[in-house]
Amino acid sequence: MIEKYEKAGRIAYEVLQECKQLIKPGAKLLELAEAAEGKIREKGAKPAFPVNISINEAAAHFTPEKDSTLVFGEKDVVKLDVGVHIDGFIGDNALTVDLSNENGKLVEAAEKALDAAVCTVRAGVKLWEIGAEVETAIKGYGFKPIANLTGHSLGEYELHAGVEIPNIDNKDPNPLQEGMVLAIEPFATNGEGRVSESPEVEIFALEEKFPVRMRESRRLLTYVEENYRTLPFAERWLYKDFHSKLLLHAALRELIFSGSFHQYPVLKDAGKGLVSQAELTVVVEKDAARVLTK
Ligand code: MN
Ligand code: MN
Repeated sequence: MIEKYEKAGRIAYEVLQECKQLIKPGAKLLELAEAAEGKIREKGAKPAFPVNISINEAAAHFTPEKDSTLVFGEKDVVKLDVGVHIDGFIGDNALTVDLSNENGKLVEAAEKALDAAVCTVRAGVKLWEIGAEVETAIKGYGFKPIANLTGHSLGEYELHAGVEIPNIDNKDPNPLQEGMVLAIEPFATNGEGRVSESPEVEIFALEEKFPVRMRESRRLLTYVEENYRTLPFAERWLYKDFHSKLLLHAALRELIFSGSFHQYPVLKDAGKGLVSQAELTVVVEKDAARVLTK
């Protein structure tokens, strides 16, 4: 089991390093997403969620739609967030690329906060202590941590397995336990320090199976359960096997309204500030964190 986490973490890290050079002005977001997801498969794993490419005030949950023509701008602050799984064991890593070269400190703030958090991790450490390290590091650069985004424990086919790793001192007295696998992900911003949901949704996940009326909806429910279980998926992934856009849309809508599918709206800083992110997957050991990048 731990070997599968190690492999997933290593692949997520490699894919990030190999793909960050594809982030440049004029390059297509869709090409980056497909390249990253293709590399994950080439390395013998599967995406644990659609590659997230969140730009500027968007902090998380954006992925390009099928046929997207979106390109990177000259001055974009780009978060690339890659999730990989091997038989349900997940690695979740992210980095930020600053295309303007004017926001280096913002990028550094998230990276240094991640370093500080990782250095704090060991069995018995309280969750608030990690949040306090992140908060102090980011505020030291004159930015705000995003208070309502957190890291998370990982479980088998579970991206958010119950424990939240705060990015602020939230007073949570619960301790880390040896053997936990965690994705730690500070976000820094020059904006409000809170995200709100935008109306755009490109990412979904199976939540619970409720009865649905349309045959296409039942087919989609079965398809998602077999292919992604409860892990997030993108609408663009479905076109390979669902050829009618109209029917697919109708089925998706029915499954959302029935409560079967959860939606992940794009999350943006409420003050429209620029956002940076850094993320690694670690195992909690007795005296330290072991980072799963090698
Ligand atoms: Mn992530
Ligand atoms: Mn994560």
